[in-house]
Amino acid sequence: MAGAPDYSDDVFFNEVDLDAHSAKTVESEAIEFFPTDYRIGRTKYIFVTGGVMSGVGKGVFSASLGHLLKHYGFTVSQIKIDGYLNQDAGTINPYRHGEVFVLEDGTECDMDLGTYERFLDDNLNRNNYITSGRVYRIILDKERRGEYLGRDVQVVPHVTGEIKNLIRTKAHEGPYDILVVEIGGTVGDIENIHFIEAAREMLYDEGRDNVMAVHVTQVPYNASAGELKTKPTQHSVKALLQLGIQPDIVVCRSAIPLNKSVRQKISLFCNIAEDRVVSSPDTDSIYRVPALLDRQETVQIVADKLNVNLPQRTDQRPEMFDIYLKYLSGSHPEIRIAITGKYTALHDSYVSILNALDHSKVAVGAEITTEWIDTTDFSSDQALDEGMLDGISGIIVPGGFGERGAEGKIRFIQYARENGLPFLGLCYGFQLAVVEFARDECGMLEAAHAEFDAETETPVIYLLPDQRKLTGMGATMRLGGHEVKVKVGTEAHRCYGSESAVERFRHRYEFNNQYRELIEHKGMVFSGMTPDEEIMQILEIPTHPFFVGTQFHPELTSRPYRPHPLFRGLVQAALTYAESAENRQVAMEAGQAE
Ligand code: GLN
Repeated sequence: MAGAPDYSDDVFFNEVDLDAHSAKTVESEAIEFFPTDYRIGRTKYIFVTGGVMSGVGKGVFSASLGHLLKHYGFTVSQIKIDGYLNQDAGTINPYRHGEVFVLEDGTECDMDLGTYERFLDDNLNRNNYITSGRVYRIILDKERRGEYLGRDVQVVPHVTGEIKNLIRTKAHEGPYDILVVEIGGTVGDIENIHFIEAAREMLYDEGRDNVMAVHVTQVPYNASAGELKTKPTQHSVKALLQLGIQPDIVVCRSAIPLNKSVRQKISLFCNIAEDRVVSSPDTDSIYRVPALLDRQETVQIVADKLNVNLPQRTDQRPEMFDIYLKYLSGSHPEIRIAITGKYTALHDSYVSILNALDHSKVAVGAEITTEWIDTTDFSSDQALDEGMLDGISGIIVPGGFGERGAEGKIRFIQYARENGLPFLGLCYGFQLAVVEFARDECGMLEAAHAEFDAETETPVIYLLPDQRKLTGMGATMRLGGHEVKVKVGTEAHRCYGSESAVERFRHRYEFNNQYRELIEHKGMVFSGMTPDEEIMQILEIPTHPFFVGTQFHPELTSRPYRPHPLFRGLVQAALTYAESAENRQVAMEAGQAE
């Protein structure tokens, strides 16, 4: 009779008691890494990995995907994972790794979180950012508390388990419909291998309906052959397969759009349906990316894969970033804005400033070209080469640390103040504007900033009282969102249209109130401060067309649909300045012609 085979005589089954055997040798391997009340399937996960090379734009892709999913009506959040052993980005030099972004809760993190906040139009928190250092800190602390008693603590399951727990904690916090988790670096890096393993485990633990994988690669263009080359992508997907992950979507970054045959090749070699090979060619604006993904039905693919119904598309914003698309198709008067700084060679160090300018230029209707001025080699007695500022209609002095470049920045601030050139000083820029004003307008020739002259007798900027006893580095500055009380009738008040704002800070030094009376007497106004009026947070000079400094970083909270009011104020003032310079020029030429 046909049927189930009879194994009753099988030696293995008769002689070995499997349960008894396992009980004697090891305890259960199954360690649960779930937050309390966590329900599998409530949140769906999209893991984004990168291949071929770093810097292909995974951050912009992840943010665009988040934006798109939110636009369709899902509740969404995003996590950025970085492989390095730093616990956060607080001690990382922006010249090496790009800007340090600061969240409302004071977390110092990777600049990708800035892109997420701008695209999601949402405030993120500490749970949106995971580094190896943070994971290891949790594990080492637990081990010392005896929480793994009796066990050897291993990469699998403990490290991967803690990673899964952190990811699930963020999901549970919403709870969100979808969490986009971007794993930094490239597949094959030793640094991020435990994160990719955690993603693989989650694909299994939570099920294929609840977790999917997207791989973003670069498809190089071979100009002499006139074609896109798919081989690096094939290799990269194979590397991911070796780690146990079959991507569900491959996003191909390239100089030109993929054609059908390139899609077919990638489809065949990477086990992916042709319509799941998404083309992401270079564009003139990152704000085009969501619409570009939408045209390839990315959300439909995601919904299909994750087995969810597509919610109605929200109609509040008829087109994604429509104001940008409209702006890009028009023509606008051009203005040039100078940015001074140490890290001018690496624009990623100032990425939020560039974004804030972008938001404002769309709102104001101007084309902005940025000019970078490296102030590193200036000495205090060196005269300014004013030719450097020809054609410039606004100047930004950004945040910074240490002595290098400070005197140079002071020269540019002085020029802006004396010549009615619109100026915005950010954090260090605010502090240096005080030093310049004290020296030049208040007769305090030796006025200095304690950060570069600890011995000065006139420290107009000095260490915050809380900072004086601190010795450690990392997460020790005055960080995150704090309230600013805005003085009625000032430029700041005109810009904000409100008497209070929450702004993000990252500093150790502050204005020394001992000099407040003298400085205000000479015409500088502190138009923003803490509600208790202890810490000065915005300065301005009312007789100047636009001279504003902020102890906080307004660039961090500027959003595509809500440009930061002070950036907008600067751009508007720069446009007016440029137009009046043009009028002066026309008048002069007319005068000469007569
Ligand atoms: N170095 C200055 C301080 O610590 C300014 C910091 C900054 O520009 N973010 O206060």
